[in-house]
Amino acid sequence: MKKKQIVVIGAGASGLMAAIMAAGNGAAVTILEQNERPGKKICATGNGKCNYTNLVMPEDAYRGTHPEFVNDALSQFSVEDTVEFFKKIGIYPLNKNGYLYPRSGQAQSVVEVLCMEAASLGVKIKTNEQAVSIEKNKSGRQDKTGKKFTVLTKGWHYEADAVILANGSRASSISGSDGSGYELAEKLGHKIVPVYPALTALKCKGTAFKTWAGVRTEGRISLFLDGNFYKSERGELQLTEYGISGIPVFQLSTYAIRAVKNGRRAELRVNFLPELSEKETEELLHYRKKNCPYKKEKELLTGLFPEKLIKVLTAQKHLVPAIREFTLEVTDGLAFSQAQVCSGGVDTGQVDPHTMESRLCPGVYLTGELLDIDGTCGGYNLQWAWSSGAAAGMHAAL
Ligand SMILES: Cc1cc2nc3c(=O)[nH]c(=O)nc-3n(C[C@H](O)[C@H](O)[C@H](O)COP(=O)(O)OP(=O)(O)OC[C@H]3O[C@@H](n4cnc5c(N)ncnc54)[C@H](O)[C@@H]3O)c2cc1C
Repeated sequence: MKKKQIVVIGAGASGLMAAIMAAGNGAAVTILEQNERPGKKICATGNGKCNYTNLVMPEDAYRGTHPEFVNDALSQFSVEDTVEFFKKIGIYPLNKNGYLYPRSGQAQSVVEVLCMEAASLGVKIKTNEQAVSIEKNKSGRQDKTGKKFTVLTKGWHYEADAVILANGSRASSISGSDGSGYELAEKLGHKIVPVYPALTALKCKGTAFKTWAGVRTEGRISLFLDGNFYKSERGELQLTEYGISGIPVFQLSTYAIRAVKNGRRAELRVNFLPELSEKETEELLHYRKKNCPYKKEKELLTGLFPEKLIKVLTAQKHLVPAIREFTLEVTDGLAFSQAQVCSGGVDTGQVDPHTMESRLCPGVYLTGELLDIDGTCGGYNLQWAWSSGAAAGMHAAL
């Protein structure tokens, strides 16, 4: 029997996984990758160490218009399946409180084992090959090849029984992500939920930033939308010349940016001493003053906060609210090039959550970040790429 011919667009995380699963299930697979090499973005993940999954799966790990869309693919190719799969192809896991990294400490090794596995299954990877359009072939005599689709690149055309769109998003300049997948999907009739940067720092209104730029400090940050509490995160905050950054800010950024883009007011309230209650904070300040009556207000905070932050806090009218509820109005996120992922993307209502096949265009499958799904920091975005890629590859090959 003739093998099913599958073209995968994008040799990133979800594309490589989809290709391996499709080839493992008997298909002849070609990946088209616009970069000069596969897996460029994977190499940049986890600060070059690749946090490829997480053993703990919180309920709110994924966001999107329909976050529950992830559940089917995540149960078909689960975290356990991911760990097992990578062990089999060579990645020995290093477990840091549930966050898994390759023991080699090198994201590059994840790309290498994926490429070796793909090659062993006969997957062809064509680099410097950008897909520019997907044409649905008419049935009958016009379609000499009998294939459903023709994928056009600048210099060639590829016939396929099925096409897997694994183009990724518009985030990060490292991988040259250009968002061309949205255009390909749109031309096939798909709706694109507006795409914004996510997992990124936030620009804010204010005058404190020049003074506090460069400070790293523990804190809790709470997001208020139109005055109503929405969500809070705790961890190391990085105070910058334009606003605020750090993992807790990244986690809230998707909601804050989408709210601002939709004309809503997004406010951050920072508690620089979250381990103490309001009463305990007042008592602590009183205790420090009592023991060192010779100190000025600024000096009383030395040893409690970094110097640059003390300057900002003591410039406020009331010290305790400044420490516990320092308020910042979000104006925007950073550019796409500085974001780790994007929120928004192809409307998941138009995609079958079990197979990843388009409901509008049978034979076309969509994976990873191209879809209107974004994960929190901690390995969840790559897990989504592995699970959605695996589901698409397996079903496309059937
Ligand atoms: C700095 C950074 C750190 C990160 N760290 C982590 C982490 O530690 N853990 C985690 O879970 N997630 C992390 N992420 C997010 C994670 O890398 C992505 O969510 C994931 O790679 C998305 O996989 P994907 O297959 O959808 O897209 P990508 O991995 O982006 O792959 C898409 C591929 O398609 C190619 N392509 C696009 N359009 C075309 C076209 N028209 N023709 C041919 N090729 C095309 C691109 O060149 C690219 O190679 C990080 C992201 C960044 C930027």
